[in-house]
Amino acid sequence: MNFSLEGRTYVVMGVANKRSIAWGIARSLHEAGARLIFTYASERFEKPVKDLVATLEGQDALFYECDVTNDEAIQKTFGDIQNDVGVIHGLAHCIAFADKEDLKGEFVDTSRDGFLLSQNISAYSLIAVSRAAQPLMTEGGGIVTLTYLGGERVVQNYNVMGVAKASLDASVRYLANDLGKHNIRVNAISAGPIRTLAAKGVGDFNSVLKQIEEKAPLRRTVSQEEVGDTAYYLLSDLSRGVTGEILHVDSGFNILGL
Ligand code: NAD
Repeated sequence: MNFSLEGRTYVVMGVANKRSIAWGIARSLHEAGARLIFTYASERFEKPVKDLVATLEGQDALFYECDVTNDEAIQKTFGDIQNDVGVIHGLAHCIAFADKEDLKGEFVDTSRDGFLLSQNISAYSLIAVSRAAQPLMTEGGGIVTLTYLGGERVVQNYNVMGVAKASLDASVRYLANDLGKHNIRVNAISAGPIRTLAAKGVGDFNSVLKQIEEKAPLRRTVSQEEVGDTAYYLLSDLSRGVTGEILHVDSGFNILGL
């Protein structure tokens, strides 16, 4: 069986810099031969993202600005992609945001605005982009998002983002059920903690990393590359029978009963 992604096109949403998990995914898909399309939140990310992508040898990438809080921007982005390339074979949604104030202290103090903001950017956006991407996925394909254990268990300081991830996890299952008839699979990777821009906002993140190094079965944290290779699996035919799944790439930490 041929698991090359040559001749396939994937949209990668959420590269901010070289530490982004989305960048690990982009590199894995590139190595497998895929053509890539990048979307970024605002103009300020345009140059850094284009500079990074220029390091991918032979990659004929396309770039679009897409703020996922804006329905018109999502429509325009996927309309432009349809005009420019026609068919896409998959999408990696690597986007989340919460106010820093809501990522420390007690969850009970979460404000209404903070709750809605994190749900809007981190969970609803998957629904909106899946709806916009579906008409372009005429040959079927895969959608992958990134979640975290804090949506299943209480993780100190993760607070409002934990509840957004629980909402994202449930959305993966409902979307998988809706889109399966179009031969579109929807899955999530539950990544172990990785030092990125988004992770910086979580209070006392260093102690989360330390706990993984001390207690996870593999006794180490995971890398962007490891998450990237799992995304390749979930976006390729290797996983053609898998949908609605939350796959942990976390050195096994989630199996522990601490
Ligand atoms: P990151 O900061 O590199 O990526 C987050 C991305 O979200 C950025 O590119 C940012 O521009 C984008 N974004 C925020 N608001 C947006 C908006 N309105 N419109 C469009 N894009 C927007 O950090 P990351 O850790 O690579 O995060 C990617 C995903 O991985 C997130 O869903 C995060 O929750 C998840 N995740 C991260 C970890 C970790 O430890 N780093 C663990 C598990 C899951």
